[in-house]
Amino acid sequence: MRWPRDTIADRAQVRSPPAGDPLHSPTLLILMTILMGLMSLVMAAVWRINRLVPGLAWWILAHGLGFLACFELLTRGRLPDALSVAVAQGLLLGMGYFIYVGARRHVGEPHPPHWIGALMIAAVTSVAVFFTTVRPDFSARFLVHSLSLGVLFVLTAQAVAKGGPRQYPARYMLAAASLLHGLFMLGRPWLFSFDLHGPMTLARMTSISPFILLESAVAFNVMAFCVLLLVAEYSHGELRRLVDRDELTGVHSRRAFLHRLQQLSEGGAERPALPILLIDLDHFKRINDTWGHSAGDDALRHFVAVAQRCMRVQDTMGRLGGEEFAVLLPRTSAEQAQGVAERLRKLLVDHPLRLTGENVSLTASIGVTLLRSGESPEVALGRADQAMYQAKSEGRNRVVSVLAPVVPEVRAA
Ligand code: GH3
Ligand code: MG
Ligand code: MG
Repeated sequence: MRWPRDTIADRAQVRSPPAGDPLHSPTLLILMTILMGLMSLVMAAVWRINRLVPGLAWWILAHGLGFLACFELLTRGRLPDALSVAVAQGLLLGMGYFIYVGARRHVGEPHPPHWIGALMIAAVTSVAVFFTTVRPDFSARFLVHSLSLGVLFVLTAQAVAKGGPRQYPARYMLAAASLLHGLFMLGRPWLFSFDLHGPMTLARMTSISPFILLESAVAFNVMAFCVLLLVAEYSHGELRRLVDRDELTGVHSRRAFLHRLQQLSEGGAERPALPILLIDLDHFKRINDTWGHSAGDDALRHFVAVAQRCMRVQDTMGRLGGEEFAVLLPRTSAEQAQGVAERLRKLLVDHPLRLTGENVSLTASIGVTLLRSGESPEVALGRADQAMYQAKSEGRNRVVSVLAPVVPEVRAA
């Protein structure tokens, strides 16, 4: 946002807006300064509660710079002309650059080295000072300023629109606000100053500046609200990850696994039978007792790494508790599921775990069953459990399938 300083300087003219003009520039500027300050404070308060949101610190700094820039514009006339223009340009470009860096940080992308940002700000500020002192030309200054900030906001929109609008709606809202503001900035030299080479008259500036101010006030406040939504979106995502992921191994938590099983069981009568593997590591207690609990944790991670080599992207693996895991294999036949279980069992035997220089062999007992259409997940899981215990009782390190409900034998009286 660049407020044509002459309109502010010439208070007499601005204080008497044309009759019927509802927009009063100094009032708008005061309002914008207050809102910028308030938004910076609100964001800083949110940051105190949750400092882990990537990019938030940069957005707070950006709005702080915006507040200072508004304040500088309000108090125009106290500094020498060139210095005043340089300070305002530097602050506003710094604001745009910080918003861009915040966006890149938020989506986990690297941002350009800060010396590039500093160079860009210094270069554009120098051009603005040149068009103020050496060759006074407000139109040229307005053009350079609008284009450089417009590009920064379009880049911000492009940076933050990542991950899909369904999963990250707040990112896309910020991207839309930033894109609209960027496009307005890119277009405003042509929208408001058709003859860029001609001198910008005071009357022309007075008529366009309230609209520019109003657009900036709306855009920056919408962006600040989007940032607050992003904080909520990020915190919610983190909580979901905590609840849905098993912290030790990275597979689905018990809760998330059972939720997925429930979802897959709701396919109706045409749903094909869904194979379930229930896996329990054999004599796992011995590993903890012999090598310690943290070696036991390593063994659990090792098992998951080996098991995932047998999985496809559509398969779901969850840790039901302790050293017990389960796997869902959609669009797989019973024979294929038994094949996967056998491959997993063998792969585990063939890949012993290295513990303090020793090869420790891990084995697993695996129960295989099918969740048939219309059957409740609990019943099928119970059958998988039954198959797994049968594998244990038959000597461990084996796969046992109980594919259909066991029908009680009916004896003739
Ligand atoms: P079985 O062959 O009959 O399954 O014998 P087991 O020793 O594997 O079974 P048991 O249920 O007696 O022992 C399971 C052990 O797994 C006991 C518990 O300390 C250990 N365990 C459970 N969760 C964790 C964990 O997160 N980390 C570690 N290191 N050990 C765990
Ligand atoms: Mg066990
Ligand atoms: Mg167990």
